[in-house]
Amino acid sequence: MIKKLTMCLCIIFLLTACAQGSVQPPTTGSEPTGEQSGEPNDTVKAPEETKEPTEEAHEGSAREGGAEAGEAPPEEEPTEPEYAYYMNKIYDIKPLDESTDAKVVLLTFDDGPKSADMLEPLLDTLDEHGAKAIFFVNGFRVKANPELLKLIHERGHAIGNHSWDHINLKNESEETIRQQVDDVQTIVEETIGERPKFFRPPHGASNEFLRNYVKEQGMLFMTWSNGSRDWEAGQQTPEAVIANVFDQLRPGSNILMHELKWTVEAMDELLTRLEEEGYSFVDPHKIRIETPTEEQPG
Ligand SMILES: [Zn+2]
Repeated sequence: MIKKLTMCLCIIFLLTACAQGSVQPPTTGSEPTGEQSGEPNDTVKAPEETKEPTEEAHEGSAREGGAEAGEAPPEEEPTEPEYAYYMNKIYDIKPLDESTDAKVVLLTFDDGPKSADMLEPLLDTLDEHGAKAIFFVNGFRVKANPELLKLIHERGHAIGNHSWDHINLKNESEETIRQQVDDVQTIVEETIGERPKFFRPPHGASNEFLRNYVKEQGMLFMTWSNGSRDWEAGQQTPEAVIANVFDQLRPGSNILMHELKWTVEAMDELLTRLEEEGYSFVDPHKIRIETPTEEQPG
């Protein structure tokens, strides 16, 4: 009972915190504004509004989600994973407890699974650094490469839902949104026996219905807080990927990368340099799925 009461108070606190200001921190000029039309998805026909997002992706403002009072999982659910981190409103990963290392980054790879040629060396490099990541997959690629999804899962990484077709969901009908989300949940479950617990919208583009629907499905919605820009023309070298990550690096960075050749080539040096700077890599399974209260402005 006491825990439940504490949780209630915590939620009230969050509601209050949310009401006090804009949830969206300001964007700054130098950061990536989202997965744009140049993002590598050549086989996918996105709707016309591909000049997308100045919205969700951002860093900057120090506004954080509160919720520093980490709650232990309820005792009546002993199988609940032991969470050590939560995601704040600007999509950074923060420790639930003061004794937990805050100097971490979350590694994420979107738009796969594409090919064994890229994926296998990527997984090997992650293993060499003891790093776990979230792979945000598209349903049509899972359908084409189910064995690669199994491989990612067997190597201990988390699977995230990145919609079936990688379309911009922001202006789609509720029916289309549900289908784009649900079909990925289904095929991933059929392939590896588990449904994704993380969701990232293509192009970082979302709306209130999508965010709420994802939450209802038991997933943690996120965009990112550190864009490697590996999808942008002119940034497609290992050196550029590393430089872009380090330009935006801070404790808790939620790093957006893709299953791309130059990113795979960058990985060993990127992870080595992050370690040299004192960073370690958050195991996605340690991130609490319960989202902070999501009050959307206006
Ligand atoms: Zn994407």
